[in-house]
Amino acid sequence: MKQKKIHAQGLIIVLSAPSGAGKTTLAHLLQKDARGVTFSVSCTTRSRRPGERSGRDYFFITEKQFTAMVARGGFAEWARVHDHCYGTPKAALQKAIAAGKDVILDIDVQGGLQVKKQFPGAVLIFVMPPTMKELERRLRGRGQDDEATIQRRLANARAEIKCMPRYDYRVINADITVARALVASIVAAEHAKIKKATKESVQ
Ligand code: 5GP
Repeated sequence: MKQKKIHAQGLIIVLSAPSGAGKTTLAHLLQKDARGVTFSVSCTTRSRRPGERSGRDYFFITEKQFTAMVARGGFAEWARVHDHCYGTPKAALQKAIAAGKDVILDIDVQGGLQVKKQFPGAVLIFVMPPTMKELERRLRGRGQDDEATIQRRLANARAEIKCMPRYDYRVINADITVARALVASIVAAEHAKIKKATKESVQ
């Protein structure tokens, strides 16, 4: 008898955090720790920063192109963050998970919650700074923001933390080695899960 090959879908792993909590570092470490993990490259209307490359960091598009993509349902989720639009291209995401690849989405909480609605099996991980004082210290230590921007980032952080209870996991990033191991364990445990969430099970 011909054996049918069981081909598991990849996981959607959403990482959200207030800026300065270490989410981007953790996302890159996860890519090293877990096999076959890829990054979803978002579209954004903000301008390119020095060192960023189109197609690798983001697809930098105009407001008009963004609106057209929203209209044709091209985003799995999208949101306005700090006065700019950001969205996760749907087709690439669906293609990757169908091919059994895990995909990391480095997106804000509004986007994370939209993804969960569409893909109930998505794993939502919220990265927390150990304390607000430490977050403030890290933001000042980066030396890239003026006082008004730091205050705005801290206010945004408080608002984002309020959404944390709607996430699946919380990872406190006090020590990057510990946080890295925890994120890798979460992904491993999700792969070992027998009962995966389906759209029907949450409706
Ligand atoms: P930045 O402009 O500093 O790269 O990103 C600003 C914020 O937008 C970060 O919190 C980042 O996670 C979030 N972000 C990046 N891409 C997306 C996306 O496709 N969707 C949503 N909802 N947020 C995104």
